[in-house]
Amino acid sequence: MTTTLTAPAKINLALDVVGKKDNGYHLVEMIMQTISLHDEVSVAPDRQTSVVCNRQDVPTDETNICIKAWKLMQETYSLPDGIKITIKKNIPVAAGMAGGSTNGAAVIAAVNREFGLNLALPEMKSLGGRLGADVPFCLQKGTALATGIGDVLQELSPCPKIYVLAVNPGFAVSTVQVYKNLAWHKITEHPDTAAMIKAIKKQDANGVLRQTGNVLENSAFQLFPQLAAIKSQIGETGLTPLMSGSGGTMLGLTEDREKAAYALNKLQGLYPFAGIFETI
Ligand code: ATP
Repeated sequence: MTTTLTAPAKINLALDVVGKKDNGYHLVEMIMQTISLHDEVSVAPDRQTSVVCNRQDVPTDETNICIKAWKLMQETYSLPDGIKITIKKNIPVAAGMAGGSTNGAAVIAAVNREFGLNLALPEMKSLGGRLGADVPFCLQKGTALATGIGDVLQELSPCPKIYVLAVNPGFAVSTVQVYKNLAWHKITEHPDTAAMIKAIKKQDANGVLRQTGNVLENSAFQLFPQLAAIKSQIGETGLTPLMSGSGGTMLGLTEDREKAAYALNKLQGLYPFAGIFETI
């Protein structure tokens, strides 16, 4: 049999860095949000383990997070042989949308179903945490506050519907490099995460849009000035511009679908990836 699951992308409606640990990890405060853009991940029992993907820039060897997820499940639950993992990738790669993490999360959930393991969500999240800080959220989905090094999750009430224009310039942005280049103690403007949570609770989409912010933008813009230019272009269309995660996907947010369509029309064709999605 084959189990196929959708693996949705995430954006950060707010991303703040509030400290750094001795081991070099940054302490964050992030509002995480699932959006409708998604990959499809299938798993099928096989004699060997393999990954097939429709995109060349996704590794198909042991460095693919899907293989790491399978190995972890296989060892933990003594599962036999291997699996064939098929990824239909729509999420831009190395783009700040947790494309790898959501694939890893989908493998955990698909293996759970395919092999009838009956694992509950908390157990799958704790396994996922061993693969990467974003994986537990990718299993939980929806809207959440992430603190600590991004690994402590608190579920929030669902965000009001917001349309998300996503534009990706086609080059990879390394999360590690953006954090390395960040002078976190020099950050003067922090997003008001508490105000964002209040706006979400009140289902106040405009309030959510007013509180968006990402303190990694300056660091990413220093490394990749083109991202700042895309942010300006999105701002000129009237949408609320915001960088997704550590970049380089740039977002334009609005509660008005027509406005999102107008902005897409202005930007389409200028960049390798552009589309309208929504919070889910
Ligand atoms: P995050 O937002 O979690 O920082 P990202 O969206 O910026 O992640 P990914 O798309 O997860 O970045 O890709 C980061 C790197 O992970 C890629 O350069 C790629 O080599 C590697 N990778 C491993 N497995 C996958 C996968 N299944 N899909 C995409 N990239 C993968």
